[in-house]
Amino acid sequence: MELRLRGKAAVITGGSVGIGLAIAEGLAAEGVNLLLVARGAERLDQEAARIEAAHGVRVVTAACDVGEPASAETITRLAETTFGGVDILINNAGTGSNETIMEAPDSKWDFYWNLHVMAAVRLARGLVPGMKRRGGGVILHNASICASQPLGYEPIYNVTKAALVMFSKNLANEVVGDNIRVNTVNPGLVLTPDWIKTAKELTAGTGGDWEGHLQAVADEFAPIKRFASAEEIANIFVFLCSERASYCVGSAFFADGGMLRTI
Ligand code: NDP
Repeated sequence: MELRLRGKAAVITGGSVGIGLAIAEGLAAEGVNLLLVARGAERLDQEAARIEAAHGVRVVTAACDVGEPASAETITRLAETTFGGVDILINNAGTGSNETIMEAPDSKWDFYWNLHVMAAVRLARGLVPGMKRRGGGVILHNASICASQPLGYEPIYNVTKAALVMFSKNLANEVVGDNIRVNTVNPGLVLTPDWIKTAKELTAGTGGDWEGHLQAVADEFAPIKRFASAEEIANIFVFLCSERASYCVGSAFFADGGMLRTI
């Protein structure tokens, strides 16, 4: 399927590893120029150079923390000076949590609210004007199955990802008249380096069968009995970026191997 994305420009937050990096690869393979964002400059610049060489697209980077208000201004300025604005924004940066509601302090709620919700709010304010000038665009949010079906150990993650889905719906209604389509993807279990690192840590004292640990997680939660690869999730993002998804507006698309236990 020809996706007709060649020559477009995209901002991807959390684009240096995991799902964000796979989305970057997927869009670059379609000829999309990229502005990748993450905090760690070294890994970010390495991946940017690799993608640029592999796909012949332009890739620039902004090493900043999207939870900080000033980052949206930095990213918007770079998008303007490099590409004259962008056509695509992927709000992907995020991370899991571990707490109880009774014990977590306000500061922890503030951290996740800024990372998962306010980063998307501020980047929309910054980048939508450029999309309008360019005749339209696409904004995608990477939330999680946990936005609908919470995991018990991470209430702050569950709540802030649910808020991100509702933000996405509201933004979709506000900008659809400007030919900007806004949607959310809710992945289930996705095998990223972080899952492997945690599995190795958890099994270090008991024989080191980290693959067995991950299989047990998949067996418990996902009827498909395996994790998704980052590429399997990225494929959905790439499709939603294209005009082939032109009637998709304000929706949340699940890709969870059957993990969601409702219809
Ligand atoms: P990874 O931990 O593999 O990658 C996260 C990326 O985000 C990295 O590039 C990281 O780089 C960047 N990042 C993290 N915090 C910030 C920040 N404050 N500012 C800028 N960049 C940041 O994550 P995944 O690929 O696993 O997850 C990506 C998204 O998908 C997240 O929002 C996550 O909640 C969601 N998700 C993941 C699932 C999974 O099973 N993996 C399942 C469902 C949803 P750096 O650390 O250098 O900043």
